[in-house]
Amino acid sequence: MNISFFNNMYLPHSQVSISPDDRGFLFADGVYEVVRWYGGFFFDMEGHHARLRRSLHELKIKWDGEDLFPEIAEKLVRINDLGDKPALVYFQVTRGAAPRTHTFPSPPVPPTAYGFAKTFTPESAGRENGIKVMLKKEMRWARCDIKSVALLPNTMCFEEATAAGFGECIFIRDGYLTEGSHSNIFFVMDGTIYTHPESEAILSGITRKNAIRAASECGIPLEEKAIHVNDLPRITEAFITNTSAEITPVTAFNDMPAGNGRPGPVTLQLAGKFREIVNSYSRL
Ligand code: PMP
Repeated sequence: MNISFFNNMYLPHSQVSISPDDRGFLFADGVYEVVRWYGGFFFDMEGHHARLRRSLHELKIKWDGEDLFPEIAEKLVRINDLGDKPALVYFQVTRGAAPRTHTFPSPPVPPTAYGFAKTFTPESAGRENGIKVMLKKEMRWARCDIKSVALLPNTMCFEEATAAGFGECIFIRDGYLTEGSHSNIFFVMDGTIYTHPESEAILSGITRKNAIRAASECGIPLEEKAIHVNDLPRITEAFITNTSAEITPVTAFNDMPAGNGRPGPVTLQLAGKFREIVNSYSRL
C-alpha cells in the first residue's frame, strides 16, 4: 500500500483528499521539491532542503513543517519499504484552501503539504547514448528560479518534444539557451564548460551545482555564462543535468548534431566524477 504524507499525517494514498478551494488547484499557488534516494541515502538533501525553504520564502508561504522536510522524506521512504531501493520523494506545499480571490488569505490559512515516495528505475539508455533536444522559444514566466508548481509551459513543451522523438526541450530566451523543461544545460566549447549563470531565468538545479563541483574537482575550466544559439555550431559537447537523469549527454539540437553527435569525453569524465560525489553521500 502506498503511504503518502498529507498535512502532518501518513495516510494510504487513496485517503488523501484535497479541497477544491486549494490555491494549488486554483492558482498553482505552491512549490515543490524532488529529492533522490540512492537505496540508502539521499543525495544532497541539504541542497534540496535549502531550495525548498527559498521557494517557500519567495512565495511568502509559511509552512510550519519546513524544518522537518528531511525527516518526512526519509520516513516516506522507510514506511513504503523503499530503504534499499532507488526512489524519488516528491513533496509539495501550497498556500492552502480559502475562498477564491487573488489576494492571499488574510489571516493566512494552514498550507497544504503533500508528499510521496516512489520506486524509480534510472533510465540508462539516455545517459549512455545521449539524447536529442528540441529548441523552443521561452514561454515561461520571469521567475524561473522559484520551484513553483506552475509548470504548464514546461509540460506542454516537453510533451511536444517527446511526441517528436526528443529527450528534452531547451528554452531560448532572447537568443540565449537558458535551461530545459526539467533540467539545466551545459556546453563545452574550446575546452571550457559553460552553463547559464544563476538568475531568475533558470532554476538553480542541485545537480547543476554538483556538476559545477565535479568540473572543479576534475580541473576543467567552467564559466557560468549563457550560450547564444549562434554559438551552437562551435560547441563540441553538451549535456543536461537533473535529479533523475544526473548528467545526460546531448547529441543534437533539433536536427543539428552537438559536436560530433556522440557523448563527448568531458561529459563522460564529469559523469564519472559526479558518481563519485553521489557515492560520497553514502558515507556521511
Ligand atoms: N530546471 C528545471 C526547470 C527543473 O524543473 C529541474 C528539475 N527540478 C531542473 C532544472 C534540475 O534541477 P535538479 O538538478 O535540482 O533536479
